[in-house]
Amino acid sequence: MHRIWTVDCMAILTREASTNAEKTSSSVLIDVRNVFKRFPVGEGEVTVLKNVNFQVNRGEFVSIVGPSGSGKSTLINMITGIDRPSEGEIEVGGIRIDEMKEGQLARWRGQNLGLVFQFFQLLPALSIVDNVILPMDFANKFDRKERRQRAMDLLDTVGLADHALKLPSMISGGEQQRTAIARALANDPPLIVGDEPTGNLDSASSGRMVELFFRLVEEGGKTLIMVTHDRDIAHRTPRMIEIADGEIVRDEDSRRVTL
Ligand code: ADP
Ligand code: MG
Repeated sequence: MHRIWTVDCMAILTREASTNAEKTSSSVLIDVRNVFKRFPVGEGEVTVLKNVNFQVNRGEFVSIVGPSGSGKSTLINMITGIDRPSEGEIEVGGIRIDEMKEGQLARWRGQNLGLVFQFFQLLPALSIVDNVILPMDFANKFDRKERRQRAMDLLDTVGLADHALKLPSMISGGEQQRTAIARALANDPPLIVGDEPTGNLDSASSGRMVELFFRLVEEGGKTLIMVTHDRDIAHRTPRMIEIADGEIVRDEDSRRVTL
């Protein structure tokens, strides 16, 4: 009961968080249509995604689960424009990601997407706060004078304000991963995508990270898609998509079930 109530509440929160303009344009943020992905292997090829179709609305929190090698990262790479489908179409925020040129894609990603990977690759020679400022310098969205304060606010959100001036090597793996989240949020992207973002964290750290993800969706109006091998985490998200051998075999939306 409690879970259902929470999810209903979340839907209201995110509805109110989105503007009228967004509502009239469309509530669909991600639209994956008839996507196939094939890789050349030796003389032949292997089909890794086989006619994948799904939509994600603004304000959803979706987890993607499935065995190792089932195509989860390949799918994430399609949505983020890191790689392109062999067949099919991918629209994010009304823009055809699969048709964009590299330069456009890099700019689009910088403005619209927060990426969190298992291996978070902070720049080792830059302080924590400077790592968070870096994407703001690339995107040039926020005023130069605001950037440091904004980075400090983000570090405060992830509980790392006290570590701002340290180098990545001076903080723990969990703290580095939280820094990577602050960095992913630097340009206030509407969409956050994680590929095993809790992959190398202990359970306490990964629990805190998932709490943060919930806050971003519930309070920040963000849309979040996260690959995870952790079934406990996946079962807590309002919607879980399961992939096996390159196909969606289950798409469970607890809100739809309650309607
Ligand atoms: P997951 O993230 O679910 O573990 P991946 O999406 O990384 O799975 O990989 C799915 C399958 O596609 C695997 O069998 C993998 O070996 C294969 N694969 C991924 N990338 C390539 C590539 N560039 N070339 C050939 N095969 C690939
Ligand atoms: Mg993977």
